[in-house]
Amino acid sequence: MSRFPGVDFLEFDSLLTEEERLARDTVRRFVDDRICPIIEECFEEERFPIELVPEMAELDLFGATIGEYGLPGLSNVAYGLIMQELERGDSGLRSFVSVQSALVMYPIYTFGSAEQRDRWIPKLASGEAIGCFGLTEPDFGSNPGAMRTTARRDGDSWVLNGAKQWITSGTLADVAVVWARTDDGIRGFLVEKGTPGFTSRDQHGKLSLRASVTSELGFQDCRIPAANMLPKASGLKSPLMCLNQARYGISWGGLGAAMDCYHTALTYAGQRIQFGGEPIACHQLVQDKLVWMVSEITKGQLLALQIGRLKDEGRAKHFHISLGKRNNVWVARECAKLARELLGGNGIVNDYPVIRHMMNIESVYTYEGTHDMHNLIIGEAITGISSFNPPIKSEAKTDRPQPVETAS
Ligand SMILES: Cc1cc2nc3c(=O)[nH]c(=O)nc-3n(C[C@H](O)[C@H](O)[C@H](O)COP(=O)(O)OP(=O)(O)OC[C@H]3O[C@@H](n4cnc5c(N)ncnc54)[C@H](O)[C@@H]3O)c2cc1C
Repeated sequence: MSRFPGVDFLEFDSLLTEEERLARDTVRRFVDDRICPIIEECFEEERFPIELVPEMAELDLFGATIGEYGLPGLSNVAYGLIMQELERGDSGLRSFVSVQSALVMYPIYTFGSAEQRDRWIPKLASGEAIGCFGLTEPDFGSNPGAMRTTARRDGDSWVLNGAKQWITSGTLADVAVVWARTDDGIRGFLVEKGTPGFTSRDQHGKLSLRASVTSELGFQDCRIPAANMLPKASGLKSPLMCLNQARYGISWGGLGAAMDCYHTALTYAGQRIQFGGEPIACHQLVQDKLVWMVSEITKGQLLALQIGRLKDEGRAKHFHISLGKRNNVWVARECAKLARELLGGNGIVNDYPVIRHMMNIESVYTYEGTHDMHNLIIGEAITGISSFNPPIKSEAKTDRPQPVETAS
């Protein structure tokens, strides 16, 4: 069993505390021992390795930043390093832990009543219960504020109607955190598996994130107790706060996938012989690709670390997190592409992890705010002008400039 040595070109480790290194190295071993041997098979079979959930819970991977309910209350940097290692194993694995921690435990812990917290946090931490987060709808992804799912108060109940799509862990979940429109704006609800009127089914045919369950959720006159509304969540800001947690984790996760691609390509280039008996690593063009990868990974590490330190001090802004998610997932995407090139024909087979990362990263590039949504968030932060929804007046629409003719 070969151990992943990490990527540390600039003595990055010296910037970490002992606790942070320990958290990372523990998960690194878990990924080497338990994930790497089975992940290609899981990907091929379109299966999340659910049998490993108890071990992940044992390692305190769920809700690791929470400091109550016997959870370790790790720093955000330690949490990020855990996400990095998990995604080095597979983006689907990191997605599962991100959803459980950042999109289910975080909102219940932050917006939930004492009863909701006491009921769900211990079960979610131990892996006895699995959660999912339902925000995206078939017609509303980048613009969730326009959601159509509704919740109507009726006596001691809320009645939900609508549909959610692309929901990670949807059919596995014992509890879904569902966002719906009410007379009082967008609110969050806990919908339990088996509730009449609540259905879930898996989306198949994915060629990306195949070791992760992705589902559609349906609500047809789905009646839940009034006490299942998250009392402290109000407006779109609440689900966006959850997304901020998850996006932060992804900024580290992307680095994990990038590191695995770089490490695989570096090892391969040192062993693969072409022309004259020397390894391909001796060629300048090959070194150029490896140098690009290690440079961008190193810059990405410093970026993620600074955002994590700001987060630990309560000073990270949503646009800082957008900067991290946007940059580091792009770095992962580019590293996967370069590594695949360097492996030649071997770059397209599952004897190596590169093509799997390459396909996975396409999902990561799109979810939790597409790359371009983060462009717009950063653009708004630096200019003070929002360009999400350009103010084209309806009467002016007929006068809109016509596309320039480019065909000759
Ligand atoms: C594998 C997977 C798992 C997921 N898991 C979850 C989950 O657990 N829970 C959940 O709620 N959601 C989940 N999602 C949904 C994900 O967050 C959405 O797919 C994402 O937000 C993009 O929405 P969309 O697919 O509807 O694309 P659209 O919003 O339709 O965007 C299509 C394209 O248009 C661009 N675009 C849109 N608006 C603008 C604009 N104003 N300016 C410029 N460009 C624009 C986008 O950048 C994109 O390139 C998941 C998605 C995937 C693929």
